Amino acid sequence: MSDCVFCKILAGDIPSHKLYEDEHTYVFLDAFPGTKGHTLIIPKKHYEDLFDIPNDQMTYLVQVSQKVAKALREVLNFDGINFFQNTGTAAGQTVFHIHFHLFPRWSGDNALGGWSATTPDKDYFEGLKKQLIKML
Ligand code: 5GP
Ligand code: ZN
Repeated sequence: MSDCVFCKILAGDIPSHKLYEDEHTYVFLDAFPGTKGHTLIIPKKHYEDLFDIPNDQMTYLVQVSQKVAKALREVLNFDGINFFQNTGTAAGQTVFHIHFHLFPRWSGDNALGGWSATTPDKDYFEGLKKQLIKML
């Protein structure tokens, strides 16, 4: 994808701080880290998001991510780590080449916002469950 920033990184047209690569994946430090060690894991092939990537590639990305998380833990001695993927603008996706974030956390850092929990009624759970189970 000629206009994709991560494809440009893979092609070597944009520099990156590479931590690891293999046949299918590339791992590098986020250029604008939310916390120390904020790292991105991407497939070498361009897939846009969660819905685009084949299941086996997704599985492999998760496996590599776990290995990288362990290395980050050894080096940074963090208190916790957020492991996430944003699909869609509404979810915060800004680069449309799928990537997982590894986002180290330290107690009290307030580095990521949370959501406001709600308390829906029984109809919400029963209705939604019925619709979704049919799709699975
Ligand atoms: P998203 O918001 O799509 O889930 O995450 C995109 C991430 O890519 C952001 O955390 C952002 O800082 C990072 N990013 C954007 N452009 C570059 C770049 O050129 N190099 C690197 N290393 N990271 C980038
Ligand atoms: Zn791309």
